[in-house]
Amino acid sequence: MSVPADSAAVVRRFNERIAERGLKSTRQRDVIVETFFRLDRHISVEELLEAVRVDVPRIGFATVYRTMKLLVEYGFADARRFGDGQTRFDPKLRPDEQHDHLICVECRRVVEFNDPAIEARIAALTTELGAFALKRRVIELYVRCTNESCERRPAAHGEDIE
Ligand SMILES: [Zn+2]
Ligand SMILES: [Zn+2]
Repeated sequence: MSVPADSAAVVRRFNERIAERGLKSTRQRDVIVETFFRLDRHISVEELLEAVRVDVPRIGFATVYRTMKLLVEYGFADARRFGDGQTRFDPKLRPDEQHDHLICVECRRVVEFNDPAIEARIAALTTELGAFALKRRVIELYVRCTNESCERRPAAHGEDIE
């Protein structure tokens, strides 16, 4: 399997982190992490499982689920829910990476953004309003596309795993 440099590097960094806790790397976990970063989108466990099974046909839901929990725990992914009850995992190459989302309520299209002005304003607010260290930031703008490419799709009713 050919893997872009970034996803191979992130697999190594992840394995270094979990090794500190005495967890050994496994081929199944490596394939899950590689696939997750190669696909690089907001993905549910079910969708990731399907993609990983191309390389490892007998991998189970629980293995993928546990790996995603580890990635979240170590700051390599965020668990997101965009208002339809489905948990999706959002890849992060660095634990301090932040971005925000704009979500179309009709077609469920998700657009990521990172606005330095918002960033600066949040940094200012955490000192203007008191002495705070920012732990988590969630900015989700629920919108409706105003072009013709917007097609209403039924919301996915996946298993809620948070
Ligand atoms: Zn995202
Ligand atoms: Zn739309």
